[in-house]
Amino acid sequence: MFSETELEFAQKYPFSNTAKKIIKKEDLDLENLPESIKQAAKIKIGHAFSQTSYTPKIIGHKDSLKDEILAFPLAKILISFMPDSLFDKFASSVRETTKNYLQEESVSGKEKKSLEPLLDLAQDLNLKVSIEDEKILSINVTDFLDFVPDKKDLKLVNQQVENGKIFLTLNDFIDFLSEKSFHLVLESLPVDIKQIPLELKKLSKEIYSELQPKFVKKHFKNTGKIKPELFPDCMQNIYSQLMSGKNVSHFGRFAIATFLNQIGMPKENIVQMFSKTPNWNEKTTRYQVEMLSGKSGTEYNAPACDKMRSAGFCTKTHCNEKHPVTYYFNQLKKTSKKEGFNDKRS
Ligand code: SF4
Repeated sequence: MFSETELEFAQKYPFSNTAKKIIKKEDLDLENLPESIKQAAKIKIGHAFSQTSYTPKIIGHKDSLKDEILAFPLAKILISFMPDSLFDKFASSVRETTKNYLQEESVSGKEKKSLEPLLDLAQDLNLKVSIEDEKILSINVTDFLDFVPDKKDLKLVNQQVENGKIFLTLNDFIDFLSEKSFHLVLESLPVDIKQIPLELKKLSKEIYSELQPKFVKKHFKNTGKIKPELFPDCMQNIYSQLMSGKNVSHFGRFAIATFLNQIGMPKENIVQMFSKTPNWNEKTTRYQVEMLSGKSGTEYNAPACDKMRSAGFCTKTHCNEKHPVTYYFNQLKKTSKKEGFNDKRS
């Protein structure tokens, strides 16, 4: 039986040896996973896409803590079916989370805080660490050189070395432990998925299909790059008709506007796309674009292929997709030489 303190520690640092012991003891049944663990794993993967930290406050609820702890190996399984580029992102998210927890508990704020969280994690990871004074910790040089940190400040050449010890400020030590978490997680991916139940492969695909468009959309909102030459025929036809000032049916306008919004085109560009059409009314168009892109409380999805087909917009000359947005994302991935869903591991 694990104490609440141990569970809280393992939830914060799911790569730790304490977490591994708990995970082993709980012996997760992959055939019958509770929904709560699947949901928690999905949230962790969502943070991997955005490479942000995830620091939920779960205090005093043993079952919730266990769900969070067990969601970590599940998230690793699910992410192992996904493109390799996500492994690094997942590890980055853990690094950010570790850093946040350590900063929050050890050195942040004005009041003096305890070194205990730092020492606890170091001890758990079998690192030889000593307190030199209240602001300096030292670590055995062989432990320090266990991996090559990405952060320039942590390179050996920038360290004070004496009698086989490296001396680090508290902030540098937090950075070191955070980098260590990144490397521990990264080297543990991908997990062996040969024996993983088919249901989890399906779940992984579902999560990937849901999160990837949101991520790509955000990415393209940031870069502002839209590639009309990669649109499927249905959208290319509507797009070129609008650009050449031809009239397009209400359904066609809705389809292209929602499609462009989903792939990240800024609202203003969508509004301007309609400017060459007959009876152009800027105010009305802006209102309509804003409504379908979420101002009404609902962000509308572009019609799927079956609806496009029924409305007579599917030419199907060069694709066989279920959704125009999926077609576009797949083309983007191909042209940027990124892997799609990793069928090598199927
Ligand atoms: S299959 Fe779908 S994406 Fe392709 S042209 Fe038809 S409706 Fe568009």
